[in-house]
Amino acid sequence: MSYLIIDYDSTFIKVESLDELSKNSKNFNKKIHKEIIKITELGMEGKISFSESLEKRLKLIESDKEDVQNTLKVLENQITDSFKENEEFLKNYSEQIFIVSSGFHELIDPIVTRYGINKNNIFANNFLYEKNKIIGFNKNNPLSKSHGKVEIVKSLNLKGKVIVIGDGYTDYEIKRDGYADTFFLFIENIKRDSVIKSADYLLKSLDQLIKIIK
Ligand SMILES: [Mg+2]
Repeated sequence: MSYLIIDYDSTFIKVESLDELSKNSKNFNKKIHKEIIKITELGMEGKISFSESLEKRLKLIESDKEDVQNTLKVLENQITDSFKENEEFLKNYSEQIFIVSSGFHELIDPIVTRYGINKNNIFANNFLYEKNKIIGFNKNNPLSKSHGKVEIVKSLNLKGKVIVIGDGYTDYEIKRDGYADTFFLFIENIKRDSVIKSADYLLKSLDQLIKIIK
């Protein structure tokens, strides 16, 4: 029995959902947006801690619930091609698939559940709201901290082969710390040179993985 730990941003979807939230918010501002992308990249490359990255980005983004809804409409059309094409596989395999993301449930759940992913198998952060405005995130959630993905997969206590599929350094950390057998660096959307050396395999699409595990 193999379990798949799948990342969301730049893996299940083509883009980074928090960047999209910034871009699709009423308060969109080019300068702020550029700054957010820069911070996201630094985090992905392991140059700053994840909590630092999240804190900095949420301070810059001034979004509300309506912005979240508008962003979801955009994300609907940004599903990674090979995930879209393999909807049937995702549905059939759903008991063994976990989405582990440092993104936000509000921007993930409505998208991935359409592909048969179980709500209980989605691990992500939550926004904190004041009235309708996003004012921060739940800091007690392990995913808001560095090594959060490692903590989540550890707590799942999966018995069997565990495969991590993702495009970032934090995905690799799950395998590095001993909670996954294999790390597939997902390069269909983006190829992060700094993470290549840590990967067991480079995965050009979900099709390749399906062939391997079947
Ligand atoms: Mg990612």
